[in-house]
Amino acid sequence: MDGRYYLSPSLLYSIRQRAVARGQGQDGDYEIPVEGEWVTIACVTGILKEWISGKDDEDGKERLEWYDDDQISKKEAKKRLERLRQEKDDRVRLIDEGRLYMLRDIGSQARGAAGEGGGNEGHHEIKLQTVKAHGQDKETGRYYGGTKGTYEKLGRYCHGQVIAIITPRISASKSVRDGDVMTLRPPDGASIVVLGNAKDYTSCTARTEEGEKCGHYVDRKGLSGSRAKEPICDFHLGIGVERTQRGRQEFANS
Ligand SMILES: [Zn+2]
Repeated sequence: MDGRYYLSPSLLYSIRQRAVARGQGQDGDYEIPVEGEWVTIACVTGILKEWISGKDDEDGKERLEWYDDDQISKKEAKKRLERLRQEKDDRVRLIDEGRLYMLRDIGSQARGAAGEGGGNEGHHEIKLQTVKAHGQDKETGRYYGGTKGTYEKLGRYCHGQVIAIITPRISASKSVRDGDVMTLRPPDGASIVVLGNAKDYTSCTARTEEGEKCGHYVDRKGLSGSRAKEPICDFHLGIGVERTQRGRQEFANS
């Protein structure tokens, strides 16, 4: 891999090597066997999780309250952490907030078109983790603490953005359930460069049960007809099919 410095996410999966010599989790679980710095480019397709974590000063253990759209809201997570803090006589401090993004290889085909990919879907997807900085230096503008500005760089509304990431650390998937999807950990905010918006990424037009627009990102590539005009995410497409089937069932019963 001499002289290569741009590596697509899919290529990272092919050339990664388990970091055996160094402590796992310190410099990442995987090493990329190239000389010097390298860059990968991907499109942000969504936020998988956001969380806040508290720390118990007495036993030093972290107590995490995860939340995402399907589970609990940020408000509820903060409330729970606050309750824990009171139970523990204020020893539980709110220490971190973070986000886990899903990114997609911009060179890969749309989900619909690549349906018969045979289980290697994960090799077009990669996660990216950020943690809120503890502060910002007034003179240099540099963030310190957390992931040193990556959280602030991406923010909450970066869906559809194509980003370049310079020499991130790479962690392995922590659970079998999550599949073999690696997580990128960029060293600081300056190691992420937003290149622009992907024209093929658009948002789901379906409404949630609460009447709000879903907004999940949909890859327009490979869509045609009504699906292209009113893009629907995989989740809402599933609900639509279910409703149609149920409708037919009711019709058959009447
Ligand atoms: Zn949707």
